[in-house]
Amino acid sequence: MKKVSILGATGSIGTSTIDVLNRYPEKFAVRAVTAYSNVQKLADAAKKTNAEVAVIGDAKLFGELQEALNARQLKTIAKAGEKAIVEEAADPDAEIVVGAIVGAAGIASTFASAKAGKRLLLANKESVVCGGRLLMDTIKAHGAQLLPVDSEHNAVFQCLESASEKMRQSHRIILTASGGPFRKRMDLSTVTVEEATHHPNWSMGKKITVDSATLMNKGLEVIEARWLFDTPEDRIDVVVHPQSIIHSMVQYEDGVVLAQLGAPDMRNTIAYCLGYPERLNAGVKPLDFSSIHGLTFEKPDTKRFPQLAYAYEALRRGGCSCIMLNAVNEIAVENFLKGKIRFIDIPKICEVMMLSASEHAPKSLEDVLEADKEARILTQEYISGYT
Ligand code: NDP
Ligand code: MG
Repeated sequence: MKKVSILGATGSIGTSTIDVLNRYPEKFAVRAVTAYSNVQKLADAAKKTNAEVAVIGDAKLFGELQEALNARQLKTIAKAGEKAIVEEAADPDAEIVVGAIVGAAGIASTFASAKAGKRLLLANKESVVCGGRLLMDTIKAHGAQLLPVDSEHNAVFQCLESASEKMRQSHRIILTASGGPFRKRMDLSTVTVEEATHHPNWSMGKKITVDSATLMNKGLEVIEARWLFDTPEDRIDVVVHPQSIIHSMVQYEDGVVLAQLGAPDMRNTIAYCLGYPERLNAGVKPLDFSSIHGLTFEKPDTKRFPQLAYAYEALRRGGCSCIMLNAVNEIAVENFLKGKIRFIDIPKICEVMMLSASEHAPKSLEDVLEADKEARILTQEYISGYT
């Protein structure tokens, strides 16, 4: 029996993780479930998983959480505060930690799990984007293991698995992108929040859905791939594949390409990581090739979606550029969702703000968090004067 903690248990990835875990009650037990403010959903998650601990990030909601757990007649221990989430990420009782918090809010807990030598099933791409080399070194130094939940990186992981050290040296990564809801829309100046929060193929949280619409998500994934697989950015390509059936590919020295295919359902990649090196069945309907009428590919349009190009630029610039781009994007998306800026303002703000990133690479987790905090303050100030 392996013990699992789910950070971000109330979100899209967290909920899918609970679905998969509930198919294998003989293999897994749940130590902790966490959320930021959704008390009722957190208490439901505790009930579904019979979790030992439930942590709510917003410390003011401690009493409410205790009531919600009591109302469900659970013995689950209530905890509160961001520090308590980070503590759970490193608790010796959990062997596996699922990192499914959204945004840079997940950085501290990802580092805590890495330092505690956990098997870390990481969906929170922002912590790889911001932690970069420092995070990968921390994982190595503490004997932790990172298994990528992000479907593209999970695909690359699978395509690289059988490669020898020599084969790996010359690999190229080809990340696939659905192209998002506006792949064919020429005028993006009138995009509404409603339109930007509906993805054609995947059902996900709001922030990542907007990132998919701007192609920032693919940009963050290029940065994520750079660190996860130690692949320089000039050996990472992106191709638009609107059907989202090929999840990503690896090309070797001889030009041969290995691809991983599957239904666009995150339960598959979560099950892969939970079971590794065994394969677990997530209960997702397998692909039916008789109903697939073609797999198509296009070049991404970085004129309409410059965020993808900014990610490559941030990698080339180094220093704190990736942390800056990530933070600026998060604040811009938040403002877009609140109706304060337009969809087309998101890349414009990123382009301007990226230039103010420090050229010194972070040397510690504190440096990463400080750079993220500063970037957020600067961006919010800029946006306040912008509108
Ligand atoms: P959701 O918005 O659906 O869920 C986010 C989770 O994080 C919720 O449990 C939320 O709690 C919690 N949370 C939010 N803010 C904080 C905070 N400040 N401190 C602690 N916890 C917080 O996101 P997704 O599940 O869509 O995405 C999660 C991560 O996985 C993201 O990094 C995303 O990029 C990545 N990912 C997601 C995919 C998907 O299919 N959804 C695919 C690939 C990667 P509460 O409910 O209380 O707000
Ligand atoms: Mg992805």
